[in-house]
Amino acid sequence: MDGAALARKVRAAVAGEVAELGHVGLATVLVGEDPASQVYIGLKHKAATEAGFEPTDHRLPASTSQSELLRLVEELNGDEGVDGLLVQLPLPDHIDEGVVLRAIEPVKDVDGVHPMNAGFLALGTPTIVPATPRGCIALLDEYGVELEGARTVVIGRSNIVGKPVAQLLVQRNATVTICHSRTRDLAAHLREADVVVAAVGRPRLVKAEMVKPGAAVIDVGVNRTDDGLVGDVDPGVAEVAGLLSPVPGGVGPMTIAMLLQNTVEAARLRRNGGYPGSTP
Ligand code: NAD
Repeated sequence: MDGAALARKVRAAVAGEVAELGHVGLATVLVGEDPASQVYIGLKHKAATEAGFEPTDHRLPASTSQSELLRLVEELNGDEGVDGLLVQLPLPDHIDEGVVLRAIEPVKDVDGVHPMNAGFLALGTPTIVPATPRGCIALLDEYGVELEGARTVVIGRSNIVGKPVAQLLVQRNATVTICHSRTRDLAAHLREADVVVAAVGRPRLVKAEMVKPGAAVIDVGVNRTDDGLVGDVDPGVAEVAGLLSPVPGGVGPMTIAMLLQNTVEAARLRRNGGYPGSTP
C-alpha cells in the first residue's frame, strides 16, 4: 500500500480547500530537543507550508515549566488566526501530558487527543479523529479492503493509535480484537485476522507465519535500529499478505496528510460555530 502516493492526493485536495478558505493557521508547540520530535515537526511544517497553510512553530526549552506551557496553549487557544493547535508528544517528564492536552481548545485539537474529541469518537460520532488512525483507515479504503464483518486485529492499545483505530474499525462494522503486551498467544489471534494494524514499537514483531494468507496488514511502527528505520512487521510478511503498508512510505506520510485534513476541517468547524449542540 503506497502511503506516499495517497498522501500526495490528500494533500493536493487539502491545498484546494485552503485556497478556498483563504487563511488556515496551524500552530505547533515543541518542548525540548527530542530528535525524532524535531524531525516530525519539521515534516509537518514543510507539508503545511506546501499546502498553503500559515504554520507557526513554537519551540520551548526542555526546562519550560508546565504553567509556562499552559500559558502558551491558552494564548494560542484565543488566537483567532490559529485554526489548529498541536502539542508534540512526548513532553518532558516534569510536565503532566494529560493536563496540557485537556487545556487545548477542543475545536482546535487537530491531533484529536482532547478527552472531548476522544469521547465523541468512543460514542460513534467522531469529530476530530487522531491523524494516524485516520490514515490507516484511508489506506484500507484506498485499496478497497472490505471492513464490514472483517476480522481485524489491532496490536497496541495506546490512546493515540491503538484505541482510536479499533474504534474506527468498529464504526465500520468490523469485528475487532485488541491485542497488547499482556495478550496470550498473539500469533493465534493474528492467524484469524483479515486485517491487521500493528502499532507497537517492536521491530519486526509480526512474522510471516503469524499472518493469514491474503490479509491486509498496516504497519504503524517506527523503530530506529542499526539497520535503519523499520516497522513492527517483518518484510517477509509481504510474501503472505495480500496488502502491506511499508515502513517508510506507508502510514508515516498518511499521518501528515491527515493532520492537514484535520486542520482544514477544524477551520471549517470553528467558522461554522463549533460542534453542533455542544459548548466547547
Ligand atoms: P505505545 O508505546 O503508546 O503503545 C504500544 C502498545 O503496544 C501498548 O499498548 C502495548 O500494550 C503494546 N505492546 C507492547 N509490546 C507488545 C507485544 N510484545 N505484543 C503485543 N503488544 C505489545 O506506542 P504508540 O504511541 O501507540 O506507537 C506505536 C508505534 O507506532 C511506535 O513505533 C510509534 O513510533 C509508531 N507511531 C507511528 C506513527 C506514524 O505516523 N507512522 C504515529 C504514531 C506512532
